[in-house]
Formats: sequence, structure tokens, C-alpha cells
Amino acid sequence: MDTRLGDVIDDFCVKCRRLTNHSVVSLLNGSAAKVRCRTCYSDHDYRNEQAPPSKKDLKKAALFNAVLSGVAPAAAEEAEAAEPKKAAKKPGKRAEA
Ligand SMILES: [Zn+2]
Repeated sequence: MDTRLGDVIDDFCVKCRRLTNHSVVSLLNGSAAKVRCRTCYSDHDYRNEQAPPSKKDLKKAALFNAVLSGVAPAAAEEAEAAEPKKAAKKPGKRAEA
């Protein structure tokens, strides 16, 4: 299972953002070191078919957590916004009575 230059192997392309066919363009110790995406022709290090743990993913996770933690405050704000209406009505009724 020696990899040779020009071999077509699967790898994750960050530009295509998916697993695509890649040609081996550089070897290191008998295994692919650099590959070229056959779809967008960009060269990059061979990633062993793994999507890189990107900062974007970390950012996404942070955003997701922010949204989650933001749900409670938003609900509380709505409850507060509903309350002044009731409070505004009460003085009026009191004035009538
Ligand atoms: Zn690509």
C-alpha cells in the first residue's frame, strides 16, 4: 500500500469543504505529504481524510453557546416588557374608581 506520486486518494479539501479526490504531489516516508485537490486544484498538506479542527468550528461552538445562554435573558426581557402594560392599566382603573 505504498503511496506513489500521482496517486489519487481521498482527502478533505478546505476550499471545497468536503472529501474530494486528490493527487499526491509530494511524498514523505512513503506516504502522502502534500496533495492537490482534483476539484479545485489547490495544493495542501495531506490531512489523512480528516477535516481540520478549525478556528471556525470553535467559533461556531462559542456562538452556539452564546445563543443558548442568550435564550433565558431574552425570555426574561419579554416578561418584563409585558408587565408595564398591566401596571399602566392599574392606575387608570384606580383613577376611575
Ligand atoms: Zn478542493
